[in-house]
Amino acid sequence: MGKGRKGKGRHAMGPENGKWVGDAISYVGVHSWIKRTLGEPRMCQECGRTRQPKGMKKSYFEWANVSGKYLRVVGDWKRLCAKCHRIMDRHLVLGRKKSSRNTSGYKGVSWEKDRKKWGASVERNGKHIRLGRFATKEEAAQAVAKYRLTE
Ligand SMILES: [Zn+2]
Repeated sequence: MGKGRKGKGRHAMGPENGKWVGDAISYVGVHSWIKRTLGEPRMCQECGRTRQPKGMKKSYFEWANVSGKYLRVVGDWKRLCAKCHRIMDRHLVLGRKKSSRNTSGYKGVSWEKDRKKWGASVERNGKHIRLGRFATKEEAAQAVAKYRLTE
């Protein structure tokens, strides 16, 4: 019996803590994750509304999932009022049917064939602003979302 047991036990963890628990995440779990990460939504990124309608007890603003995949990616979430949320959900269902391979499912994210990267861009005052290229569509979507949060 050659090798003795290594008596090391637990050693200080390295950069392991950035890991997500995995994809087997419940709908509720990912909703509370986004709230922990970015807080409660207090405005609508679609219509710009910030006020809660009078007499409404439950929060009028919600975190809406952009891709319908409920990813633990900041760029996959959007603050919406209940009304815009319903409209967006309807679009999502319609949009999914005709999604092609070139589209990411995220607004502002598209595949750049020649560069083999996901390009992120936003529209501002009618102008097209490029935010860069990314290896994954999630990263590109995150760049778009970050940009929108600063608006
Ligand atoms: Zn709205």
